[in-house]
Amino acid sequence: MISLPRRLTAPEPGWSTETDVVIVGSGIAGLTTALHIARHSPLRITLVTKDILAAGSTPWAQGGIAAALGAGDSPEEHFADTIVAGAGVCDEAAVRVLVREGPAAVRELAQIGARFDRAGDGSLSLTREGGHHRNRIAHAGGDATGAEIERALVTRVLDATDVEVIEHALVLDLLRTDAGQIAGLTLHVMGEGARDGVGAVHARAVVLATGGIGQVYASSTNPSVSTGDGVAAALRAGAVVRDLEFVQFHPTVTWLGARSRGQQPLVSEAVRGEGAFLVDEAGTRFMQGVHELADLAPRDVVAKAIVRRMGEQDAENMWLDARAFGEEKWRVRFPTILASLRAHGIDPVRELIPVVPACHFASGGVRTDLSGETSLPGLFACGETACTGVHGANRLASNSLLEGLVFGHRIADAIVRRLGEPQAPPAPAAPAAPGSLLDDALRPRLQQLMSEHVGVLREAKGLAAAADGLADLAADGTDTTHGTHGAGGLPAPSTEPAPPTAPATEPAPATENWEATNLLTVASALVLAAQCREETRGSHWREDFPDRDDGSWRGHLNLTLDKSGSPLCTFERDDFGLNAPLKGGKR
Ligand SMILES: Cc1cc2nc3c(=O)[nH]c(=O)nc-3n(C[C@H](O)[C@H](O)[C@H](O)COP(=O)(O)OP(=O)(O)OC[C@H]3O[C@@H](n4cnc5c(N)ncnc54)[C@H](O)[C@@H]3O)c2cc1C
Repeated sequence: MISLPRRLTAPEPGWSTETDVVIVGSGIAGLTTALHIARHSPLRITLVTKDILAAGSTPWAQGGIAAALGAGDSPEEHFADTIVAGAGVCDEAAVRVLVREGPAAVRELAQIGARFDRAGDGSLSLTREGGHHRNRIAHAGGDATGAEIERALVTRVLDATDVEVIEHALVLDLLRTDAGQIAGLTLHVMGEGARDGVGAVHARAVVLATGGIGQVYASSTNPSVSTGDGVAAALRAGAVVRDLEFVQFHPTVTWLGARSRGQQPLVSEAVRGEGAFLVDEAGTRFMQGVHELADLAPRDVVAKAIVRRMGEQDAENMWLDARAFGEEKWRVRFPTILASLRAHGIDPVRELIPVVPACHFASGGVRTDLSGETSLPGLFACGETACTGVHGANRLASNSLLEGLVFGHRIADAIVRRLGEPQAPPAPAAPAAPGSLLDDALRPRLQQLMSEHVGVLREAKGLAAAADGLADLAADGTDTTHGTHGAGGLPAPSTEPAPPTAPATEPAPATENWEATNLLTVASALVLAAQCREETRGSHWREDFPDRDDGSWRGHLNLTLDKSGSPLCTFERDDFGLNAPLKGGKR
């Protein structure tokens, strides 16, 4: 059984500061929350982010942000599409909040300076993506929506005098009082002067907005900062994490060869929304007949169809045909994607685009209520780090920027109501004993295990191999499962060199090793959840349990760490709201 640290090994804080609210992360979720607290209260706000402000997923978002903004559209129709994509396990109350509060939140974003693309009459130009039955995706700069939203929010936050921004500040662990209330966090700042090295920020509320977990896999659309730090810190502090098995693989990520790893260039679904379609090795369209929406079916359906066809044809990738757009449409509508493809030697105006599914989005995360508060009093989670329940088993395209925006407002409201005026934060209790770090040299093995065995298609043998491999890495840095291949993983980087041998010395407290340890924590919890859910639902596909089983599995897997650092999984049934024991008990 794997034992994960309950606290990261790090030097004792050499400095400390106090504030009312500390927000971790500077994507749409963190920036929106900071901005709205600053607008509506005198509270002191500290926003910390581990790289520069614009380093997260938000600036990479291409397609846009979904909301019922068009003539004839309605929140009810957006609700219906979201629920269908979520495959029976969306939190309907959370979805209602999302679709009802979404249109006003997007309009407000435009008012504070985000320049969305507009039609000739000045109305928002709206496009379609997979799973949507209406044109309801607002976009900016053609395919540069996230970059424009980030620019607008960063400008406003830097103007807000009540928000102190600390860049290059990697959050390590959460602090709690003896009574369990959140009391701040520890962090490592690569700075100068008084705030350099490990320190502590004492606060009355903490908002985790650390984005996704994409770096858990060998290839992902997520940037390098997406190492699941917020989810791992929440687990270590005792919070409940939910729905981690539901990882969305984007169907059309540019295939750059078996050796390519890390962040891979995305070809937005909006390209298919504008008429591009998938073909196989023989040039045959294969999505027609698979789903009524064909190439615009929900992402899990398209990703599975691609992986299956790749298996049937023993192919490394499938192909996207967008040649009918012509040069002008490519240049005006998708300038960022066009430039990225051409930089990799692919000319989509004349050639087919090689594509393959890659890890894209974590539908699960730190469990929250409708105000964004987690199971720990005073700890909030927002954006991709959170599990509000809006995505269920599969996120509907372009609902994630919207989630960060809508719930960022709600968290701000809850914090303003709760904290009122500035006040001294509570004293933290003595922290847990620190545990061993994972050597970052082992990160490629961890990612390879996940891509081989816990990808689009999963089965018991591969999942067990992943769990064993992760436990080996945690125990002594070796991996005895090397060479064991699961039945349905993504094309794994099989050309990788042999796994590294055990590190000779204890890994030093350093950014790479803290991140690697966070990846191990998230990966271990994710594998456990994927093993436990013995059915196929949404983005979780079990080859050995190919059917959806509402009788046994309509509900959620809640994950926590026990005292010894082993992940625990319990099943919470949707219809009864009871904590039912898992089939086979806790693992
Ligand atoms: C290529 C791509 C295209 C996408 N396209 C779309 C789209 O068209 N529409 C859509 O709705 N969604 C899209 N998504 C998903 C969407 O972009 C993300 O879900 C969303 O931006 C997440 O926002 P966030 O604020 O939660 O996290 P992020 O924007 O990822 O921000 C996380 C922040 O936390 C910081 N951080 C992380 N760890 C720490 C730590 N330990 N200490 C301090 N700071 C930390 C990071 O540096 C970063 O600032 C796309 C994602 C990608 C990768």
